[in-house]
Amino acid sequence: MNLQRQSFLGAHSDTVLARSRAALIGLGGGGSHIAQQLAHIGLGHFLVIDPDFIEDTNLNRLVGGTQEDVRLGTAKVDIAERVIKSVNPVAEVVKRLASWAEVTAELRDVDVIFSCVDSIGCRSELESFARRFLIPLIDIGMDVHESNGEFSISGQAMLSMPTKPCMRCMGLVTDNGLTKEAAQYGAAGGKPQVVWPNGTLASVAVGFFMKLMTPWETQKTTPLLLEYDGDLQTVMPSNKLAYLPAHCKHFDSAHGLGDPFWTANVLVTVE
Ligand SMILES: [Zn+2]
Repeated sequence: MNLQRQSFLGAHSDTVLARSRAALIGLGGGGSHIAQQLAHIGLGHFLVIDPDFIEDTNLNRLVGGTQEDVRLGTAKVDIAERVIKSVNPVAEVVKRLASWAEVTAELRDVDVIFSCVDSIGCRSELESFARRFLIPLIDIGMDVHESNGEFSISGQAMLSMPTKPCMRCMGLVTDNGLTKEAAQYGAAGGKPQVVWPNGTLASVAVGFFMKLMTPWETQKTTPLLLEYDGDLQTVMPSNKLAYLPAHCKHFDSAHGLGDPFWTANVLVTVE
């Protein structure tokens, strides 16, 4: 790939990106956008993780998905690989048709994790894992709310760095939210999702990544939480930032850092 047009990113940025490894958890509406952008930017190593196969209802937002894929029931990780390789054939794409918790040994070896999953519980567990292994985690999420027959779109992109404010500090994970989600577990139908908010949030997520990996801009500190107002079409630093602690206390003890046995990748059967 000729990356001349992005040479402003820094003298060695191409090499840094070519040697870097990112994990993408969830290759649906958000993750498929991120995979495509990271391929264009010249990322060399991908670990793409998703247990699902494309369905007709995914075509409204899954970048790279085709009618033929729906007919064949192609795995989302295979679609991601096809998109990445079609842009950058030398990129390494390790695919795992699994839940992320089944491949934690490989997940430990990445430079950055992109969390593009639906549930609060899953995001929370993923963040615990990332904190345990000191891996930056970039999370995106969008929601559609209905009030009196009117719809509103909102979302957020956040960067979770070791010791810095976490999803609990930011109010993205709460006990109340986890309880409500658990109560609705198995409820019919998926959450509303559309392509353009996913694209906006995915672009912000890749922006976080580029600020971490390349020295193109060093003067301004990126806010750790950016909120998307889909009605106004704005992405702004969150008002919550003014109230966040400088250091997160949620992962101070071993208890808060996820289950260490997840790293063993061993299935234990209890008789
Ligand atoms: Zn915290």
